Amino acid sequence: MTTTTDRTAPSSTGAAVNPPAAPVVPSLSRLRPLGIGEVTITGGPWATRQATNAAATLGHVEHWLEREGWLGNFDATAAGASGADRAGREFSDSETYKLLEAMAWEHGRSGDPELDARLRAIVARVAAAQQPDGYLSTAFGRPGTPERWSDLEWGHELYCLGHLFQAGVARARTAGPDELLEVCTRAADLVCEVFGPQGIPSVCGHPEIEPALVELYRVTGQRRYLEQARLFLERRGHQVLAEVEFGRAYFQDDVPIREADVLRGHAVRATYLSSGAVDLAAETGDEELLAAVVRQWEATVARRTYLTGGMGSRHQDEAFGEDFVLPPDRAYSETCAGVGSVQLAWRLLLARGEARYADLVERTLYNVVDAGPSASGTAFFYTNTLHQRVLGTVPDADHAVPRAASSLRAPWFAVSCCPTNVARTFASLQTLVATADEDGVQVHQYAPATIATDLPAGRLELRVVTDYPHTGRVEVVVERAPADPVAVTLRVPGWATGATLTDGEDVREAAPGSVTTTRAFTTGEVLVLDLPLQPRFTAADPRVDAVRGTLAVERGPQVLCVESVDLPGERHVDDLVLDPTRAPEDVEGGVRVHGWLRQQADPAWPYGEPTPGGAAGEQVSVLLHPYADWAERGPSTMRVFLPVPGAPSAAS
Ligand SMILES: [Zn+2]
Repeated sequence: MTTTTDRTAPSSTGAAVNPPAAPVVPSLSRLRPLGIGEVTITGGPWATRQATNAAATLGHVEHWLEREGWLGNFDATAAGASGADRAGREFSDSETYKLLEAMAWEHGRSGDPELDARLRAIVARVAAAQQPDGYLSTAFGRPGTPERWSDLEWGHELYCLGHLFQAGVARARTAGPDELLEVCTRAADLVCEVFGPQGIPSVCGHPEIEPALVELYRVTGQRRYLEQARLFLERRGHQVLAEVEFGRAYFQDDVPIREADVLRGHAVRATYLSSGAVDLAAETGDEELLAAVVRQWEATVARRTYLTGGMGSRHQDEAFGEDFVLPPDRAYSETCAGVGSVQLAWRLLLARGEARYADLVERTLYNVVDAGPSASGTAFFYTNTLHQRVLGTVPDADHAVPRAASSLRAPWFAVSCCPTNVARTFASLQTLVATADEDGVQVHQYAPATIATDLPAGRLELRVVTDYPHTGRVEVVVERAPADPVAVTLRVPGWATGATLTDGEDVREAAPGSVTTTRAFTTGEVLVLDLPLQPRFTAADPRVDAVRGTLAVERGPQVLCVESVDLPGERHVDDLVLDPTRAPEDVEGGVRVHGWLRQQADPAWPYGEPTPGGAAGEQVSVLLHPYADWAERGPSTMRVFLPVPGAPSAAS
């Protein structure tokens, strides 16, 4: 076993001496990630999210893990007790590991000693449950539970270990190698023995250990972990798992990853697996594998992704639907699939450096990941519908609800993957803001922040001043710069037609993609990016049949929605018909649109002779708000896509 961090593999991307403290640190990549010591979010909505995560969500999650007995499972395992009455689902260990990962990033950010003590206390309980040979699970391999590795399709043993490894990586990169990393390497060594070239020739039903093993390799330098990740990735798709009720596409065991054309099956599994493939490709220079993932990502974004960035429309198997099957009222769009999509797009951004990946990161952060938790950070959506037709009921703050079943944000779920996934994402959010390469720094996400890193030319320090996404003005202030020229690249989002970059007296158009300024900078100079944020109508491809005849409204990176609490008399949102001839406008407190409230006829048979739909009913103007903030004011009906006059319908 080794816990060395003095990996000497060369980076192609610049002068960083120590690996950055970030979740994903490729040895070879187009862009170099910046760690939590290099980027600090200093204000705005993302700073609020990080503060709430630290002050409320981490404690909330720890409380529920304790009260549900999921932490106690480790104590019982350590004591050799029977697991016959074990608490929670077979994958509940993973929530403890994701909490540890979130705590590690947050401690790395804040240095809070009390949080460090809480983290160490949980690690001690986890470590005590590890078997002498490295095996670690509270759900298998002890009295009263099934045998080890006896249910690879559904058991999640390797999935859980993947989350353990990511927690160990986070801790090692923020506090140095410690007991948690030792627990990880003992378990990983066992996995390599049991599932190595001469071992069980199969994989876990839920991908996750693949990216985790690559990252554990990056921290420890142990090539066997990378090789094990490669084995898992190459085996999958060759029907190594048993047939299940949803078919083998459910866990991507239908087609080898190099041959697949699109993401399919369970959306979280698909995005985690693809993330691992990008990680492997980055370590081995495997351009064919990277190209295969890019191809699948492009097809998925083009035909299987909601306007919010949400992925997965099927409730039955939490899976992608077929192309263009994106019903708003039956959107599954699991918060975790949003997290997985961010992870995948981020890896592709590092590998390829193209702004389109950061565009999807932004869209998904603002409209899926941010929609998941309440403003309080203590209640969560599991699924993220784009059309709520019935008033929800407020969940009992004292009871876990079944998976996905809540109609409003719930405190905890029997399957509680989403709260811990947003916790670890927010705790490491600053690592998604910017990157570096040989020439300079690239800013991908806009928030008040400081960015400081060492480039081959010398140290560059930037301060971002902005009220984004409230306003579109982004000032990048040079606090310190090398004498020689460096490049400062700013992303211009795909929706930002008409953006400009001001550099002193020079004002230039900044087309969607990115805009780069390369020169010698002096302290105090400011680059100003102006992004046009006026609200806009958005239509869908006509093959998304479920939203034909409707428009959505977006403003900057945010998708907007209408809620019944904002309609006169709290009428149902389905009564609203949008006037597409009057542009949406920014007003105090939201975005105003105009339209009509129609009286629904409610016929006995909802089909009939086609009649051109016209404007009718009471004229109204309505305030829309960001989709991510919906259901913060109690039960309401809600929709994103609003019908416009013109499409024929049954007379009413
Ligand atoms: Zn989830």
